[in-house]
Amino acid sequence: MKTYRNFIGGEWVTSASSKRIPNINPADSTDVLGETPMSTRDEAAAACAVAADAFREWRRVPAPRRGAIVTRAAQLMQERRNAIAQAIAHEEGKLVSEAQGEMNRSINVVEFSGAHGRRLNGATIPLELPNNFGYTLRVPRGVAALITPWNFPVAIPVWKIAPALVAGNSVVFKPSPLTPETSELVLQCFIDAGVPAGVLNMVYGDADVGTTMIDHPGVKCVSFTGSTPTGMAIYERAARRGIPAQCEMGGKNPVIVLEDADIDLAVAGVMAGAFGSTGQRCTATSRVILLHPVADAFLERLVDAASKLRLGSGLAENVAMGPIVSEAQLQRVLEYIDIGKHEGAELLYGGKRVTTGALSKGYFVEPTIFDRVRPEMRIAQEEIFGPVLAVIRVESFDEALAAANDSQFGLTSSIYTRDALRMFRYIDEIETGMTHVNSPTLGGEAQVPFGGTKATTVGPTEQGTEVFDFYTETKVAYIDYTGAKREGKLY
Ligand code: NAD
Repeated sequence: MKTYRNFIGGEWVTSASSKRIPNINPADSTDVLGETPMSTRDEAAAACAVAADAFREWRRVPAPRRGAIVTRAAQLMQERRNAIAQAIAHEEGKLVSEAQGEMNRSINVVEFSGAHGRRLNGATIPLELPNNFGYTLRVPRGVAALITPWNFPVAIPVWKIAPALVAGNSVVFKPSPLTPETSELVLQCFIDAGVPAGVLNMVYGDADVGTTMIDHPGVKCVSFTGSTPTGMAIYERAARRGIPAQCEMGGKNPVIVLEDADIDLAVAGVMAGAFGSTGQRCTATSRVILLHPVADAFLERLVDAASKLRLGSGLAENVAMGPIVSEAQLQRVLEYIDIGKHEGAELLYGGKRVTTGALSKGYFVEPTIFDRVRPEMRIAQEEIFGPVLAVIRVESFDEALAAANDSQFGLTSSIYTRDALRMFRYIDEIETGMTHVNSPTLGGEAQVPFGGTKATTVGPTEQGTEVFDFYTETKVAYIDYTGAKREGKLY
Protein backbone atom coordinates (compact mmCIF):
# COMPACT_ATOMS: atom_id res chain seq x y z
CA MET A 1 0.00 0.00 0.00
CA LYS A 2 1.22 3.49 -0.85
CA THR A 3 2.61 5.50 2.05
CA TYR A 4 2.61 9.21 1.31
CA ARG A 5 5.97 10.91 1.68
CA ASN A 6 6.93 14.33 2.95
CA PHE A 7 8.73 16.73 0.64
CA ILE A 8 11.66 18.37 2.41
CA GLY A 9 14.68 20.12 0.89
CA GLY A 10 13.77 19.07 -2.65
CA GLU A 11 13.40 15.35 -1.84
CA TRP A 12 10.44 13.05 -1.24
CA VAL A 13 11.24 11.47 2.12
CA THR A 14 9.53 8.71 4.08
CA SER A 15 8.47 9.77 7.55
CA ALA A 16 10.08 7.92 10.46
CA SER A 17 6.73 7.94 12.26
CA SER A 18 4.96 4.62 12.71
CA LYS A 19 1.67 6.44 13.30
CA ARG A 20 -0.32 6.46 10.05
CA ILE A 21 -3.93 6.97 9.08
CA PRO A 22 -5.62 5.30 6.11
CA ASN A 23 -6.68 7.44 3.16
CA ILE A 24 -10.23 6.15 2.67
CA ASN A 25 -12.50 6.69 -0.32
CA PRO A 26 -15.56 8.19 1.43
CA ALA A 27 -17.87 6.71 -1.21
CA ASP A 28 -16.65 3.19 -0.35
CA SER A 29 -14.79 2.74 2.91
CA THR A 30 -13.37 -0.63 1.77
CA ASP A 31 -11.33 1.25 -0.87
CA VAL A 32 -8.14 2.46 0.83
CA LEU A 33 -5.87 4.61 -1.33
CA GLY A 34 -2.83 4.69 0.95
CA GLU A 35 -1.57 5.75 4.35
CA THR A 36 -0.80 9.24 5.56
CA PRO A 37 2.04 9.50 8.08
CA MET A 38 1.55 11.54 11.21
CA SER A 39 5.06 12.99 10.94
CA THR A 40 7.18 13.73 13.97
CA ARG A 41 7.93 17.10 15.50
CA ASP A 42 11.56 16.65 14.43
CA GLU A 43 10.51 16.24 10.81
CA ALA A 44 8.40 19.39 10.97
CA ALA A 45 11.27 21.31 12.55
CA ALA A 46 13.69 20.00 9.89
CA ALA A 47 11.37 21.26 7.13
CA CYS A 48 11.25 24.70 8.77
CA ALA A 49 15.05 24.82 9.08
CA VAL A 50 15.52 23.86 5.41
CA ALA A 51 12.96 26.50 4.37
CA ALA A 52 14.73 29.15 6.45
CA ASP A 53 18.02 28.35 4.67
CA ALA A 54 16.43 28.37 1.21
CA PHE A 55 14.73 31.70 1.95
CA ARG A 56 18.09 33.53 1.86
CA GLU A 57 18.50 32.81 -1.88
CA TRP A 58 14.85 32.82 -2.91
CA ARG A 59 14.23 36.32 -1.59
CA ARG A 60 16.96 37.57 -3.98
CA VAL A 61 15.33 36.06 -7.08
CA PRO A 62 13.62 39.02 -8.81
CA ALA A 63 9.87 39.03 -8.22
CA PRO A 64 8.95 38.77 -11.95
CA ARG A 65 11.08 35.60 -12.15
CA ARG A 66 9.44 34.14 -9.07
CA GLY A 67 6.11 35.03 -10.69
CA ALA A 68 7.10 33.27 -13.93
CA ILE A 69 7.78 30.02 -12.04
CA VAL A 70 4.38 30.24 -10.34
CA THR A 71 2.71 30.99 -13.69
CA ARG A 72 4.34 27.83 -15.06
CA ALA A 73 2.82 25.90 -12.13
CA ALA A 74 -0.61 27.19 -13.21
CA GLN A 75 0.04 25.85 -16.74
CA LEU A 76 0.99 22.44 -15.33
CA MET A 77 -2.15 22.41 -13.20
CA GLN A 78 -4.14 23.08 -16.36
CA GLU A 79 -2.40 20.18 -18.18
CA ARG A 80 -2.94 17.82 -15.23
CA ARG A 81 -6.38 19.02 -14.23
CA ASN A 82 -8.23 15.79 -15.05
CA ALA A 83 -5.91 13.61 -12.96
CA ILE A 84 -6.06 16.07 -10.05
CA ALA A 85 -9.86 16.35 -10.28
CA GLN A 86 -10.14 12.54 -10.18
CA ALA A 87 -7.92 12.45 -7.08
CA ILE A 88 -10.08 15.08 -5.35
CA ALA A 89 -13.24 13.10 -6.11
CA HIS A 90 -11.64 9.83 -5.01
CA GLU A 91 -10.29 10.90 -1.62
CA GLU A 92 -12.47 13.89 -0.66
CA GLY A 93 -15.70 12.69 -2.23
CA LYS A 94 -16.94 15.69 -4.19
CA LEU A 95 -18.21 15.12 -7.73
CA VAL A 96 -15.66 15.24 -10.55
CA SER A 97 -17.62 18.19 -12.00
CA GLU A 98 -17.31 20.01 -8.66
CA ALA A 99 -13.60 19.11 -8.56
CA GLN A 100 -13.20 20.57 -12.06
CA GLY A 101 -14.81 23.76 -10.74
CA GLU A 102 -12.25 23.76 -7.93
CA MET A 103 -9.50 23.33 -10.53
CA ASN A 104 -10.78 26.38 -12.48
CA ARG A 105 -10.69 28.51 -9.37
CA SER A 106 -7.26 27.18 -8.36
CA ILE A 107 -5.67 27.79 -11.75
CA ASN A 108 -7.08 31.34 -11.82
CA VAL A 109 -5.63 32.04 -8.37
CA VAL A 110 -2.19 30.71 -9.30
CA GLU A 111 -2.16 32.66 -12.59
CA PHE A 112 -3.26 35.83 -10.82
CA SER A 113 -0.51 35.42 -8.21
CA GLY A 114 2.14 34.67 -10.84
CA ALA A 115 1.27 37.82 -12.78
CA HIS A 116 1.56 39.82 -9.59
CA GLY A 117 5.31 39.17 -9.64
CA ARG A 118 5.43 42.11 -12.08
CA ARG A 119 3.34 44.33 -9.83
CA LEU A 120 4.94 43.93 -6.41
CA ASN A 121 5.25 47.69 -6.32
CA GLY A 122 6.17 50.00 -3.52
CA ALA A 123 5.49 53.75 -3.60
CA THR A 124 7.56 56.90 -3.93
CA ILE A 125 6.57 59.54 -1.41
CA PRO A 126 7.40 63.26 -1.61
CA LEU A 127 9.17 64.58 1.48
CA GLU A 128 9.07 68.10 2.99
CA LEU A 129 12.84 68.45 2.81
CA PRO A 130 14.18 69.65 -0.56
CA ASN A 131 16.19 67.16 -2.60
CA ASN A 132 14.95 64.28 -0.51
CA PHE A 133 12.50 61.57 -1.28
CA GLY A 134 11.13 58.51 0.41
CA TYR A 135 10.06 55.21 -1.02
CA THR A 136 8.67 51.92 0.18
CA LEU A 137 9.69 48.41 -0.77
CA ARG A 138 7.79 45.20 -0.23
CA VAL A 139 10.03 42.60 1.36
CA PRO A 140 9.14 38.97 2.04
CA ARG A 141 8.67 37.90 5.64
CA GLY A 142 10.64 34.61 5.76
CA VAL A 143 9.20 31.12 6.12
CA ALA A 144 5.41 31.00 5.75
CA ALA A 145 3.68 28.16 7.64
CA LEU A 146 0.56 27.13 5.72
CA ILE A 147 -2.05 24.84 7.32
CA THR A 148 -5.11 23.75 5.36
CA PRO A 149 -8.35 21.70 5.65
CA TRP A 150 -9.65 18.86 3.49
CA ASN A 151 -12.67 20.45 1.84
CA PHE A 152 -10.84 22.34 -0.95
CA PRO A 153 -7.62 20.34 -1.08
CA VAL A 154 -6.31 22.20 -4.15
CA ALA A 155 -7.83 25.67 -4.02
CA ILE A 156 -7.02 26.53 -0.41
CA PRO A 157 -3.39 25.32 -0.50
CA VAL A 158 -2.66 27.16 -3.75
CA TRP A 159 -4.32 30.39 -2.70
CA LYS A 160 -1.74 30.44 0.10
CA ILE A 161 1.31 28.82 -1.61
CA ALA A 162 1.21 30.91 -4.81
CA PRO A 163 1.18 34.42 -3.28
CA ALA A 164 3.59 33.36 -0.51
CA LEU A 165 6.14 32.23 -3.12
CA VAL A 166 5.67 35.17 -5.49
CA ALA A 167 6.22 37.55 -2.57
CA GLY A 168 9.57 35.82 -1.94
CA ASN A 169 8.78 33.70 1.12
CA SER A 170 9.73 30.08 1.47
CA VAL A 171 6.98 27.70 2.55
CA VAL A 172 6.27 24.79 4.86
CA PHE A 173 2.87 23.41 3.97
CA LYS A 174 0.84 21.04 6.14
CA PRO A 175 -2.18 19.69 4.25
CA SER A 176 -5.10 17.93 5.87
CA PRO A 177 -4.22 14.27 6.54
CA LEU A 178 -7.47 13.36 4.72
CA THR A 179 -6.32 14.55 1.28
CA PRO A 180 -2.67 13.45 0.80
CA GLU A 181 -2.97 12.29 -2.82
CA THR A 182 -4.25 15.64 -4.05
CA SER A 183 -1.64 17.50 -2.00
CA GLU A 184 1.14 15.47 -3.60
CA LEU A 185 -0.15 16.17 -7.14
CA VAL A 186 -0.45 19.89 -6.47
CA LEU A 187 3.01 20.10 -4.97
CA GLN A 188 4.45 18.28 -7.97
CA CYS A 189 3.15 21.05 -10.28
CA PHE A 190 5.14 23.65 -8.33
CA ILE A 191 8.24 21.43 -8.19
CA ASP A 192 8.11 20.72 -11.94
CA ALA A 193 7.59 24.42 -12.61
CA GLY A 194 11.03 25.06 -11.14
CA VAL A 195 10.58 26.13 -7.51
CA PRO A 196 14.11 25.56 -6.12
CA ALA A 197 14.86 22.84 -3.55
CA GLY A 198 14.01 23.87 0.01
CA VAL A 199 11.75 26.77 -1.00
CA LEU A 200 8.53 24.70 -0.88
CA ASN A 201 8.24 21.87 1.65
CA MET A 202 5.34 19.68 2.70
CA VAL A 203 4.91 17.71 5.91
CA TYR A 204 1.95 15.40 6.57
CA GLY A 205 0.59 15.24 10.08
CA ASP A 206 -1.73 16.83 12.55
CA ALA A 207 -1.53 19.17 15.53
CA ASP A 208 2.04 18.15 16.48
CA VAL A 209 3.33 19.15 13.05
CA GLY A 210 1.22 22.32 12.95
CA THR A 211 2.26 23.59 16.37
CA THR A 212 5.94 22.80 15.72
CA MET A 213 5.75 24.89 12.57
CA ILE A 214 4.17 27.86 14.36
CA ASP A 215 6.77 27.72 17.15
CA HIS A 216 9.81 27.46 14.85
CA PRO A 217 11.98 30.61 14.97
CA GLY A 218 12.43 30.63 11.17
CA VAL A 219 8.67 30.83 10.61
CA LYS A 220 7.59 34.45 10.26
CA CYS A 221 3.90 34.18 9.36
CA VAL A 222 1.11 31.63 9.57
CA SER A 223 -1.86 31.22 7.26
CA PHE A 224 -4.55 28.78 8.38
CA THR A 225 -7.91 27.67 7.07
CA GLY A 226 -10.05 25.27 9.10
CA SER A 227 -12.38 25.18 12.07
CA THR A 228 -12.80 28.05 14.52
CA PRO A 229 -11.45 26.29 17.67
CA THR A 230 -8.26 25.22 15.85
CA GLY A 231 -7.83 28.62 14.21
CA MET A 232 -8.26 30.53 17.46
CA ALA A 233 -5.62 28.32 19.14
CA ILE A 234 -3.26 28.94 16.21
CA TYR A 235 -3.84 32.69 16.32
CA GLU A 236 -3.07 32.75 20.04
CA ARG A 237 0.08 30.68 19.53
CA ALA A 238 1.33 32.91 16.72
CA ALA A 239 0.58 36.03 18.78
CA ARG A 240 2.75 34.70 21.61
CA ARG A 241 5.67 34.75 19.16
CA GLY A 242 4.62 38.11 17.74
CA ILE A 243 4.23 36.80 14.19
CA PRO A 244 1.25 37.69 12.00
CA ALA A 245 -1.44 35.06 11.42
CA GLN A 246 -4.31 34.88 9.02
CA CYS A 247 -7.05 32.45 10.12
CA GLU A 248 -10.10 31.65 7.96
CA MET A 249 -12.49 29.55 10.02
CA GLY A 250 -16.05 28.30 10.43
CA GLY A 251 -19.28 29.59 8.96
CA LYS A 252 -23.09 29.40 9.21
CA ASN A 253 -24.05 31.18 6.03
CA PRO A 254 -27.63 32.50 5.72
CA VAL A 255 -29.85 33.14 2.71
CA ILE A 256 -32.81 35.50 3.07
CA VAL A 257 -35.75 35.08 0.69
CA LEU A 258 -38.07 38.10 0.64
CA GLU A 259 -41.71 37.97 -0.48
CA ASP A 260 -40.92 39.59 -3.85
CA ALA A 261 -38.17 37.10 -4.74
CA ASP A 262 -38.08 34.96 -7.87
CA ILE A 263 -38.86 31.72 -6.04
CA ASP A 264 -37.41 29.36 -8.67
CA LEU A 265 -34.16 31.31 -8.69
CA ALA A 266 -34.02 31.25 -4.90
CA VAL A 267 -34.74 27.51 -4.71
CA ALA A 268 -31.99 26.81 -7.26
CA GLY A 269 -29.56 29.00 -5.30
CA VAL A 270 -30.34 27.35 -1.97
CA MET A 271 -30.10 23.85 -3.47
CA ALA A 272 -26.64 24.65 -4.88
CA GLY A 273 -25.56 26.33 -1.67
CA ALA A 274 -26.87 23.77 0.81
CA PHE A 275 -26.25 20.48 -1.00
CA GLY A 276 -23.55 21.27 -3.59
CA SER A 277 -20.26 19.63 -2.50
CA THR A 278 -22.43 17.82 0.09
CA GLY A 279 -22.71 21.03 2.13
CA GLN A 280 -19.00 20.84 2.87
CA ARG A 281 -17.97 24.19 1.42
CA CYS A 282 -16.93 26.99 3.76
CA THR A 283 -19.39 29.10 1.76
CA ALA A 284 -22.22 26.51 1.93
CA THR A 285 -25.72 27.70 2.81
CA SER A 286 -26.73 26.33 6.19
CA ARG A 287 -29.61 28.63 7.13
CA VAL A 288 -32.46 29.89 4.98
CA ILE A 289 -34.64 32.67 6.33
CA LEU A 290 -38.06 32.88 4.69
CA LEU A 291 -40.64 35.62 4.89
CA HIS A 292 -43.98 34.00 5.72
CA PRO A 293 -45.80 34.81 2.46
CA VAL A 294 -43.27 32.80 0.41
CA ALA A 295 -42.36 30.11 2.94
CA ASP A 296 -44.80 27.34 1.95
CA ALA A 297 -44.35 27.74 -1.82
CA PHE A 298 -40.58 27.93 -1.44
CA LEU A 299 -40.37 24.82 0.76
CA GLU A 300 -42.65 22.78 -1.48
CA ARG A 301 -40.29 23.38 -4.43
CA LEU A 302 -37.17 22.92 -2.28
CA VAL A 303 -38.30 19.54 -0.95
CA ASP A 304 -39.25 18.46 -4.45
CA ALA A 305 -35.77 19.40 -5.73
CA ALA A 306 -34.04 17.70 -2.76
CA SER A 307 -36.01 14.50 -3.30
CA LYS A 308 -34.67 14.34 -6.88
CA LEU A 309 -30.98 14.58 -5.89
CA ARG A 310 -29.24 11.35 -6.80
CA LEU A 311 -26.60 10.30 -4.28
CA GLY A 312 -23.48 8.42 -5.30
CA SER A 313 -19.74 8.34 -5.69
CA GLY A 314 -18.22 11.55 -7.00
CA LEU A 315 -16.46 9.40 -9.60
CA ALA A 316 -19.73 8.04 -11.03
CA GLU A 317 -21.87 9.54 -13.80
CA ASN A 318 -25.21 11.26 -13.22
CA VAL A 319 -24.70 11.80 -9.52
CA ALA A 320 -25.81 15.04 -7.85
CA MET A 321 -24.46 14.68 -4.32
CA GLY A 322 -21.40 12.81 -3.05
CA PRO A 323 -20.57 11.41 0.39
CA ILE A 324 -19.45 13.07 3.62
CA VAL A 325 -15.65 13.13 3.78
CA SER A 326 -15.01 10.77 6.71
CA GLU A 327 -16.58 8.52 9.33
CA ALA A 328 -15.93 11.15 12.04
CA GLN A 329 -17.57 13.91 10.01
CA LEU A 330 -20.50 11.59 9.19
CA GLN A 331 -21.06 10.94 12.91
CA ARG A 332 -20.96 14.68 13.59
CA VAL A 333 -23.63 15.33 10.93
CA LEU A 334 -25.87 12.52 12.24
CA GLU A 335 -25.46 13.82 15.79
CA TYR A 336 -26.63 17.28 14.71
CA ILE A 337 -29.63 15.76 12.95
CA ASP A 338 -30.56 14.14 16.29
CA ILE A 339 -30.00 17.44 18.09
CA GLY A 340 -32.33 19.17 15.62
CA LYS A 341 -35.07 16.60 16.26
CA HIS A 342 -34.68 16.89 20.04
CA GLU A 343 -34.74 20.67 19.90
CA GLY A 344 -38.18 20.46 18.30
CA ALA A 345 -37.36 21.49 14.74
CA GLU A 346 -39.60 19.85 12.12
CA LEU A 347 -37.69 17.37 9.94
CA LEU A 348 -39.12 18.17 6.53
CA TYR A 349 -36.89 15.99 4.39
CA GLY A 350 -34.04 13.47 4.70
CA GLY A 351 -32.22 13.01 8.00
CA LYS A 352 -30.94 9.47 7.51
CA ARG A 353 -27.72 7.74 6.62
CA VAL A 354 -27.98 5.53 3.53
CA THR A 355 -27.75 1.97 4.89
CA THR A 356 -28.84 -0.11 1.91
CA GLY A 357 -27.20 -1.08 -1.36
CA ALA A 358 -23.71 -0.16 -2.52
CA LEU A 359 -23.87 3.28 -0.90
CA SER A 360 -24.03 1.68 2.56
CA LYS A 361 -20.27 1.14 2.26
CA GLY A 362 -19.77 4.89 2.03
CA TYR A 363 -20.53 7.89 4.24
CA PHE A 364 -23.79 8.99 2.62
CA VAL A 365 -26.46 11.09 4.30
CA GLU A 366 -29.67 12.25 2.67
CA PRO A 367 -30.01 15.97 1.96
CA THR A 368 -31.72 17.15 5.13
CA ILE A 369 -34.11 20.06 5.65
CA PHE A 370 -35.39 21.18 9.06
CA ASP A 371 -38.34 23.58 9.07
CA ARG A 372 -39.52 25.85 11.93
CA VAL A 373 -36.05 26.22 13.34
CA ARG A 374 -35.72 29.01 15.90
CA PRO A 375 -32.60 31.21 15.63
CA GLU A 376 -31.37 30.19 19.10
CA MET A 377 -31.43 26.44 18.37
CA ARG A 378 -28.06 24.69 18.14
CA ILE A 379 -28.71 23.60 14.55
CA ALA A 380 -29.10 27.30 13.68
CA GLN A 381 -26.06 28.42 15.67
CA GLU A 382 -23.37 25.75 15.38
CA GLU A 383 -21.41 24.76 12.30
CA ILE A 384 -22.48 21.28 11.11
CA PHE A 385 -20.54 21.20 7.83
CA GLY A 386 -22.71 18.76 5.93
CA PRO A 387 -25.94 18.67 3.87
CA VAL A 388 -28.23 19.94 6.64
CA LEU A 389 -30.32 23.07 6.12
CA ALA A 390 -32.10 24.99 8.90
CA VAL A 391 -35.21 26.92 7.78
CA ILE A 392 -36.22 29.92 9.89
CA ARG A 393 -39.57 31.60 9.20
CA VAL A 394 -39.93 35.33 9.95
CA GLU A 395 -42.58 38.07 9.65
CA SER A 396 -40.56 41.01 8.33
CA PHE A 397 -37.40 42.17 6.59
CA ASP A 398 -36.04 43.52 9.90
CA GLU A 399 -36.66 40.21 11.61
CA ALA A 400 -34.92 38.42 8.71
CA LEU A 401 -31.85 40.64 9.06
CA ALA A 402 -31.75 40.12 12.82
CA ALA A 403 -31.96 36.33 12.38
CA ALA A 404 -29.23 36.36 9.71
CA ASN A 405 -26.93 38.38 11.99
CA ASP A 406 -27.71 36.26 15.06
CA SER A 407 -24.57 34.16 14.62
CA GLN A 408 -21.05 34.03 15.95
CA PHE A 409 -19.88 33.48 12.35
CA GLY A 410 -19.71 35.88 9.39
CA LEU A 411 -18.27 34.40 6.21
CA THR A 412 -20.85 34.88 3.48
CA SER A 413 -24.58 35.35 2.90
CA SER A 414 -27.17 36.04 0.24
CA ILE A 415 -30.52 37.71 -0.33
CA TYR A 416 -33.19 37.05 -2.97
CA THR A 417 -35.27 40.13 -3.74
CA ARG A 418 -36.14 42.52 -6.57
CA ASP A 419 -36.44 45.48 -4.20
CA ALA A 420 -33.42 47.80 -4.58
CA LEU A 421 -34.11 49.70 -1.35
CA ARG A 422 -34.07 46.61 0.87
CA MET A 423 -31.23 45.11 -1.14
CA PHE A 424 -28.93 48.04 -0.36
CA ARG A 425 -30.05 48.19 3.28
CA TYR A 426 -29.26 44.50 3.52
CA ILE A 427 -25.75 45.01 2.07
CA ASP A 428 -25.14 47.78 4.62
CA GLU A 429 -26.36 45.79 7.60
CA ILE A 430 -25.46 42.15 7.00
CA GLU A 431 -22.53 41.15 9.20
CA THR A 432 -20.67 38.88 6.80
CA GLY A 433 -17.38 39.50 5.01
CA MET A 434 -18.89 38.64 1.62
CA THR A 435 -22.46 38.74 0.40
CA HIS A 436 -24.42 37.94 -2.74
CA VAL A 437 -27.62 39.28 -4.28
CA ASN A 438 -29.91 36.93 -6.22
CA SER A 439 -27.20 34.25 -6.36
CA PRO A 440 -25.97 31.50 -4.01
CA THR A 441 -23.69 32.08 -1.02
CA LEU A 442 -20.93 30.31 -2.95
CA GLY A 443 -17.82 31.25 -4.82
CA GLY A 444 -15.40 34.06 -5.23
CA GLU A 445 -12.95 35.12 -7.91
CA ALA A 446 -9.15 35.15 -7.72
CA GLN A 447 -8.81 38.93 -7.98
CA VAL A 448 -11.39 39.63 -5.25
CA PRO A 449 -10.53 39.52 -1.53
CA PHE A 450 -11.95 36.54 0.35
CA GLY A 451 -12.69 36.54 4.06
CA GLY A 452 -15.23 36.89 6.82
CA THR A 453 -16.05 38.73 10.02
CA LYS A 454 -16.65 37.76 13.69
CA ALA A 455 -15.54 34.22 14.64
CA THR A 456 -14.94 33.33 10.98
CA THR A 457 -11.82 35.38 10.35
CA VAL A 458 -8.99 36.86 12.31
CA GLY A 459 -6.24 38.63 10.43
CA PRO A 460 -6.30 40.03 6.88
CA THR A 461 -8.33 38.62 4.00
CA GLU A 462 -6.93 36.19 1.43
CA GLN A 463 -6.79 36.46 -2.38
CA GLY A 464 -7.09 39.68 -4.37
CA THR A 465 -4.09 42.01 -4.35
CA GLU A 466 -4.67 42.44 -0.58
CA VAL A 467 -3.10 39.05 0.14
CA PHE A 468 0.31 40.47 -0.75
CA ASP A 469 0.04 42.81 2.24
CA PHE A 470 0.07 39.68 4.39
CA TYR A 471 2.97 37.94 2.66
CA THR A 472 5.23 41.04 2.60
CA GLU A 473 6.44 43.64 5.05
CA THR A 474 6.77 47.28 4.06
CA LYS A 475 10.25 48.75 4.35
CA VAL A 476 10.73 52.53 4.12
CA ALA A 477 13.83 54.25 2.69
CA TYR A 478 14.66 57.98 3.08
CA ILE A 479 17.07 59.28 0.39
CA ASP A 480 18.86 62.60 0.86
CA TYR A 481 20.64 63.81 -2.25
CA THR A 482 21.59 67.30 -0.98
CA GLY A 483 24.97 66.00 0.24
CA ALA A 484 24.68 68.63 3.00
CA LYS A 485 24.45 68.45 6.78
CA ARG A 486 21.06 69.26 8.17
CA GLU A 487 21.55 72.37 10.30
CA GLY A 488 19.24 72.48 13.32
CA LYS A 489 16.03 71.42 11.67
CA LEU A 490 15.60 67.69 11.42
CA TYR A 491 12.05 67.63 10.16
P1 NAD B 1 -9.59 21.50 11.26
O1 NAD B 1 -9.58 22.78 12.03
O2 NAD B 1 -9.89 20.27 11.99
O3 NAD B 1 -8.16 21.27 10.58
C1 NAD B 1 -7.58 22.21 9.70
C2 NAD B 1 -6.07 21.95 9.63
O4 NAD B 1 -5.49 22.24 10.91
C3 NAD B 1 -5.71 20.49 9.32
O5 NAD B 1 -4.58 20.49 8.47
C4 NAD B 1 -5.36 19.94 10.70
O6 NAD B 1 -4.50 18.83 10.64
C5 NAD B 1 -4.69 21.14 11.34
N1 NAD B 1 -4.68 21.17 12.80
C6 NAD B 1 -5.53 20.58 13.65
N2 NAD B 1 -5.20 20.90 14.93
C7 NAD B 1 -4.14 21.74 14.87
C8 NAD B 1 -3.37 22.43 15.84
N3 NAD B 1 -3.64 22.34 17.14
N4 NAD B 1 -2.35 23.21 15.43
C9 NAD B 1 -2.07 23.34 14.12
N5 NAD B 1 -2.77 22.70 13.13
C10 NAD B 1 -3.80 21.92 13.50
O7 NAD B 1 -10.59 21.73 10.03
P2 NAD B 1 -11.06 20.65 8.94
O8 NAD B 1 -12.01 19.69 9.57
O9 NAD B 1 -9.89 20.14 8.19
O10 NAD B 1 -11.87 21.59 7.91
C11 NAD B 1 -13.22 21.95 8.07
C12 NAD B 1 -13.32 23.34 8.65
O11 NAD B 1 -12.66 24.26 7.79
C13 NAD B 1 -14.73 23.86 8.79
O12 NAD B 1 -14.85 24.46 10.05
C14 NAD B 1 -14.84 24.93 7.69
O13 NAD B 1 -15.77 25.94 7.94
C15 NAD B 1 -13.46 25.44 7.66
N6 NAD B 1 -13.17 26.11 6.39
C16 NAD B 1 -13.17 27.49 6.38
C17 NAD B 1 -12.91 28.18 5.20
C18 NAD B 1 -12.90 29.68 5.16
O14 NAD B 1 -12.43 30.23 4.18
N7 NAD B 1 -13.40 30.37 6.17
C19 NAD B 1 -12.62 27.45 4.03
C20 NAD B 1 -12.64 26.05 4.08
C21 NAD B 1 -12.90 25.40 5.27
